[in-house]
Amino acid sequence: ALHHRDLSGPARHSVGGKVPLGLKRKALRVLVTGGAGFVGSHLVDRLLERGDSVIVVDNLFTGRKDNVVHHFGNPNFEMIRHDVVEPILLEVDQIYHLACPASPVHYKYNPVKTIKTNVVGTLNMLGLAKRINARFLLTSTSEVYGDPLQHPQVETYWGNVNPIGVRSCYDEGKRTAETLTMDYHRGANLEVRIARIFNTYGPRMCIDDGRVVSNFVAQALRKEPLTVYGDGKQTRSFQYVSDLVEGLMKLMEGEQVGPFNLGNPGEFTMLELAKVVQDTIDSNARIEFRQNTQDDPHKRKPDISRAKELLGWEPKIPLREGLPLMVTDFRKRIFGDQDSTTT
Ligand code: NAD
Ligand code: UDP
Ligand code: UDP
Repeated sequence: ALHHRDLSGPARHSVGGKVPLGLKRKALRVLVTGGAGFVGSHLVDRLLERGDSVIVVDNLFTGRKDNVVHHFGNPNFEMIRHDVVEPILLEVDQIYHLACPASPVHYKYNPVKTIKTNVVGTLNMLGLAKRINARFLLTSTSEVYGDPLQHPQVETYWGNVNPIGVRSCYDEGKRTAETLTMDYHRGANLEVRIARIFNTYGPRMCIDDGRVVSNFVAQALRKEPLTVYGDGKQTRSFQYVSDLVEGLMKLMEGEQVGPFNLGNPGEFTMLELAKVVQDTIDSNARIEFRQNTQDDPHKRKPDISRAKELLGWEPKIPLREGLPLMVTDFRKRIFGDQDSTTT
């Protein structure tokens, strides 16, 4: 199907962008689905920075034009408002497939749509990758481990997932997306990469998206109580977004299929997280306990030995360093620029 390829583009050399040592790498054409979202927009920044052309495909369900508006007018950047559940024809060298709501509040809002996005959306992007012989990277999730019986989680663990629960549209959806990705790899010889991303935070997260870091930070800034669900003893491991983007790009450029855990092994209970937020923003911030959601995983912490060894990657920014960077962004967006200097 190579005749479909647009040969006028800047990067029609070998797939995937492997460059002989010492040669300047050629610019690639890269598709980022979900590129107007939190993680996607940071990835787009880095790809454009290194000289690639980027096409963002996003239906703007949880993404915002604001996240990429600084690239409007850049001839190397293009944004298409499109839902990945519908087929699309494009010509690129690499596909980073991120399109999918990530916050439990968002993915539970229309669970059937979430499944369609994960299954039909991923199928379409794999079909596209196959037709144009592009390298395909799936952003899967630590949720594939469910409420894990192994701790920390290693990539070889098959997980403990409820197939009929309220989180299933997301975690079973992502498990199917992984299956599809491997079946295209085995069946169609497609070059694929799989990342299992653990909780990630940073600037540009939706302010009211319901995830714990964005909730706590927004609450502390607005002088509202921090809402701790359940007893607050459940744990998560929080990764700063620039570390993740670095890992995704290393994975794409490397020779390993994965799956790879990409996360920060620093593990915190929700009460410990609340304490870090208090120390960072407002030591007087109160804590309010709320009923927890169904099927909430009790603990989560990545074993990242595989990524360390095979990708030469590990996160660099601990929570206490990353959180202030996010707070600066949230301050600006909640209060506007003026107040950010005084609060
Ligand atoms: P996000 O909600 O900010 O971004 C997702 C983007 O996908 C949004 O811009 C949204 O509009 C778009 N999108 C959703 N459905 C779509 C569809 N049907 N067609 C086209 N676009 C669609 O979330 P994020 O945190 O940036 O997550 C990005 C990816 O990383 C997701 O696939 C998510 O599952 C995965 N991930 C994220 C985390 C995390 O902690 N942020 C953890 C694990 C996995
Ligand atoms: N697809 C797409 N863009 C393309 C090629 C395929 O959106 O450039 C979609 C296509 O509509 C199909 C899916 O990807 O629904 C899977 O395509 P594939 O060719 O692998 O399977 P088939 O079309 O034979 O079912
Ligand atoms: N959580 C909380 N308060 C909030 C939002 C979430 O205590 O305001 C808890 C939630 O119950 C879960 C953890 O924080 O145990 C992480 O939730 P999040 O939605 O951020 O991500 P998840 O890892 O569950 O996908």
